[in-house]
Amino acid sequence: MPKRLKFMLTVDAQKLAKWLRLLGYDTKVIKSVSLLNLIRIAQKEERVIVSRSKDVLNHPLKFDRIFIHSNSLDQQLQEMKPFLEYEEEYIFLRCPEDNELLHSISKEKALAFIPEKVAQLHDDYKICYKCGRVYWQGSHYTKIKDKLIDLLT
Ligand SMILES: [Zn+2]
Repeated sequence: MPKRLKFMLTVDAQKLAKWLRLLGYDTKVIKSVSLLNLIRIAQKEERVIVSRSKDVLNHPLKFDRIFIHSNSLDQQLQEMKPFLEYEEEYIFLRCPEDNELLHSISKEKALAFIPEKVAQLHDDYKICYKCGRVYWQGSHYTKIKDKLIDLLT
């Protein structure tokens, strides 16, 4: 597989985190660290810093950065578009809440976590072992996918 970008968002761009993770991008948001430390972590982990801050944009250190102008999520995604790819096999690979990789679980195991109605409709489930959320390809999933396809393909 080709190497994909990894991101580090500053807090002012953190709305993007969920969406980048849904696309399968390894995306971190670290709060309460100085800009210098943030840059060092990003450099060490080979992450591109995504930020709305002019301090990041104009910082004299050499590091990869994407400056985001808009405050609206849809426009922010548009601004990120040149750096993103929609690839089916990456969709819903990561937990949108905390960036952990998801794991497939059997329907039998998922039954403990999901409503009966859902179990009747779906057979494929994934779990995040960090936060315990269980995901399945319901209508919410389809809407998210449509939005991403709309935007990026
Ligand atoms: Zn999670």
